Amino acid sequence: MSNNYTNSSLVGYTRLVSKHSGQRTHCIDRITPHCVVGQVTAARLGDIFSGTRDVSSNYGIALDGTVGLYVEEKNRSWCSSSNANDQRAITIECASDPKPPYAFKPVVYDTLVKLCTDICKRNGKKKLLWFGDKAKSLNYKPKSDEMVLTVHRWFCNKSCPGDWMYARMGDLAQKVTAALNADSSPAPAPVIVKCPYAEPRFCMMYGSTGGGVKWLQWHLNQAAKAGLKIDGIFGPLTRAAVLRFQKNKKIAVDGIVGPQTRAALKKAVG
Ligand SMILES: [Zn+2]
Repeated sequence: MSNNYTNSSLVGYTRLVSKHSGQRTHCIDRITPHCVVGQVTAARLGDIFSGTRDVSSNYGIALDGTVGLYVEEKNRSWCSSSNANDQRAITIECASDPKPPYAFKPVVYDTLVKLCTDICKRNGKKKLLWFGDKAKSLNYKPKSDEMVLTVHRWFCNKSCPGDWMYARMGDLAQKVTAALNADSSPAPAPVIVKCPYAEPRFCMMYGSTGGGVKWLQWHLNQAAKAGLKIDGIFGPLTRAAVLRFQKNKKIAVDGIVGPQTRAALKKAVG
């Protein structure tokens, strides 16, 4: 159980209201998105939560995508018609059309994905789960890194979050989980290509042999995809590759690998 409750840094409007039950009695392991049934601003939502009806939510997402904070995450909001749910859920009221299917504007949905990702991250969750099944969801015991999506319609005779959002619950879970895992995986280390052969200090040409020629063949394969067998023998194929490389690099095309060609090969490999 997390004792370090925080609030989202995505919040652009704060109006803490008194309509809540004080500190939650269950750790946060659910998120419940709602539809407002109205394309409201963040301030308007604050007015509603300050009015006569005993309703509130932790967050709201206004029609322009502004995230409003009304009840801090540490507190139990009055949102989902279920004490058991709201003790453990972060509730989010999302601006929606006033009529079925209560569609959200694209910016509202995009912000919901970001806000849910942020909530999961700060509360130590790596997965947001959507089962699409009331009994399964409510009986599920989430692992410590799991967050479960629930919907208001399971707790009272309402269509909330509306058919538009209900149809996207799986997409929301998938996008948030993908974002959480993209963040946690370390950036791939750059591939460092290092030549295993010592750089020759002498000129090489057709007929040369030895470790210096291996260095040359390795560099031609890396720099010019020459496809040479690294056998240390400067034969016709190696010579042809040297001539092509010198021509491409606009250096003396003589098939002799001296300081200038060596420098160009090192530069090309990087
Ligand atoms: Zn609702």
